[in-house]
Amino acid sequence: MRPAPSPFFIAGARDVLPLGGCQSPRYTPPVFTTFAFAVAVMAAIIAVRYLAVSGGFAWLTKLRGVHDGPADPAKRSRQIAQEIRWSLISAVIYAVPAGLALESARALGWTQIMWTINGWQQALWFPLSVFAYLFLHDSWFYWTHRWMHQPRLFKAAHAVHHASRPPTAWAAMSFHPWEAISGAVLIPALLFIVPIHIGALAIVMLIATIMGVTNHMGWEMFPQSWVNGWFGRHVISASHHEAHHRHYNCNYGLYFRFWDKLCGTDRGLANWTQRA
Ligand SMILES: [Zn+2]
Ligand SMILES: [Zn+2]
Repeated sequence: MRPAPSPFFIAGARDVLPLGGCQSPRYTPPVFTTFAFAVAVMAAIIAVRYLAVSGGFAWLTKLRGVHDGPADPAKRSRQIAQEIRWSLISAVIYAVPAGLALESARALGWTQIMWTINGWQQALWFPLSVFAYLFLHDSWFYWTHRWMHQPRLFKAAHAVHHASRPPTAWAAMSFHPWEAISGAVLIPALLFIVPIHIGALAIVMLIATIMGVTNHMGWEMFPQSWVNGWFGRHVISASHHEAHHRHYNCNYGLYFRFWDKLCGTDRGLANWTQRA
């Protein structure tokens, strides 16, 4: 005799699994189990991604002979240990909305994630959706970041990120939990509203990860001709974010200089020869 179904059973969830085939036809796990598992897997993925990408760029920084972080070696080691500690806590916080959204997509089909490309409209939307997600993420980051520079919020949350003086590649996710929550919710929420192909989402996450790390590593990875040209006038790279860490009250953006320029908070690019 089959056991009575739990009230948390997802009726017919197996039939809508885009990645299906991994569950027994007789058993659909309770919602709580699958969501908790998705969050745990996501936390592991984000933590490993952070350690690999930050570690990789920290290694490149050393290879190039660039000194990152404080000049005093003991202070530098203490700072990097703190950057890694806060980043790993952030990895767990980021995993909660990300895991819930992806499990909603996988098991329930509730998000706007597309798994196939049908027709030219969807093919055209692929690159446009990458830009739309980056612009919306950048807008959210600009305004929440600027808000967190108000004295009370700065002390309560954002001071953790600015405790890195100057930052290293390990500071990519070095945020107080309050700030990590604000950074974690936007993209998972957008997945329920703005259609995006899973491949375009992967490109957005790749750009977010690489820029988060490289903007803090203490040197510019793009060629000078790019940084001083059209690219650098519109796109944020290490030279722009470094100036935020030096002066605090400018250059709040994440990917684009659009909001900084529009709101008069853009202070131009850092002069690397002046790094402490
Ligand atoms: Zn920063
Ligand atoms: Zn800041």
